[in-house]
Amino acid sequence: MKKIMLTGDRPTGRLHVGHYVGSLRRRVELQNTGDFDDIFIMIADAQALTDNADNPEKVRQNIIEVALDYLACGLDPEKSTLFIQSQIPELCELSFYYMNLVTVSRLQRNPTVKSEIQMRNFEASIPVGFFTYPISQAADITAFKATTVPVGEDQMPMIEQTKEIVHKFNSVYGETLVDPKILLPDNAACLRLPGIDGKAKMSKSLGNCIYLSEEPEDIQKKVFSMFTDPTHIRIEDPGKLEGNTVFTYLDAFCRPEYFPEFLPEYENLDELKAHYKRGGLGDMKVKRFLNNVLQAELEPIRNRRKEFQKDIPAVYEILRKGSEKAKTVAEQTLKEVKAAMKIDYFADEELIRAQAEKFSE
Ligand code: ATP
Ligand code: MG
Repeated sequence: MKKIMLTGDRPTGRLHVGHYVGSLRRRVELQNTGDFDDIFIMIADAQALTDNADNPEKVRQNIIEVALDYLACGLDPEKSTLFIQSQIPELCELSFYYMNLVTVSRLQRNPTVKSEIQMRNFEASIPVGFFTYPISQAADITAFKATTVPVGEDQMPMIEQTKEIVHKFNSVYGETLVDPKILLPDNAACLRLPGIDGKAKMSKSLGNCIYLSEEPEDIQKKVFSMFTDPTHIRIEDPGKLEGNTVFTYLDAFCRPEYFPEFLPEYENLDELKAHYKRGGLGDMKVKRFLNNVLQAELEPIRNRRKEFQKDIPAVYEILRKGSEKAKTVAEQTLKEVKAAMKIDYFADEELIRAQAEKFSE
């Protein structure tokens, strides 16, 4: 079986370091292994509109921001197809048919949708499109016959939902759709990177992000303002690591080579953590180290982004070409889906002959 990767992001803002450790970094690594037959990276504008219906300009403006972040991180249009969701109408058609395979109560149980509804104050009036976005996500994944979906932990319920739709579809209409596998980050800190305020998830919508394109002074300001251990008041006090955002970020970003470069008095992260727990290590020292780490990680990304920014029409052209290719693939899947569902009337000569025979008797 072919190995196909699909994943994407909502164009609701520039991408942040949570996206990077949750999914983007892995995508680029996988892309560069050459192990995949096809890689599809989708800018999910139609999904972004499900909770931004009254703000299409926001979505429109952020398409290019997300595309630039992709290219800056090393997604290569020669190896990965970068495309825009709304340009593939076949995805809507697939969603429409999948809707018949999912119950309202099943959607209501989706924990990510539940918490997102709360976050957006949608409790009283949820847009139907938003409520059903897990179904549209199943269409995105299955349209490209994705076998691998590298995403952050919040996407687990979506992939579960997709798998259920695939199983249901295949059992009702015959083996047609491919069952996808979720690929979560293997480092716990990256599953759901907290915001700089220590809140459960860094998210564009919560405004607690460090963006990939952030300027050095802003990165430093954000790191220095970061949430740590509120009970660690004096340097001598023992410190806690649980819920300490600075250490979570070090878990997500620190590489062994950063110690000799920026903090040679420690061998590794374990030693630094042990000292913090024991007491005698100040928050500012750890924050300065984290700032150096993040600056080193983000500088090459920011610089590459500036290169791509010099030719914006070329970036749109990459998306146009990618969308064209993605459309051809989705068209083929839709054809197979409609044949399986027996709604391919004009392509089915057998049907027409049989009906003709029936009425000639
Ligand atoms: P929005 O607030 O508009 O939903 P978002 O910041 O949650 O935006 P998405 O576009 O919904 O970002 O998510 C894109 C991908 O990034 C998904 O795979 C998601 O799991 C991952 N991701 C987003 N935020 C984080 C995070 N804080 N930690 C790890 N992965 C994340
Ligand atoms: Mg999200």
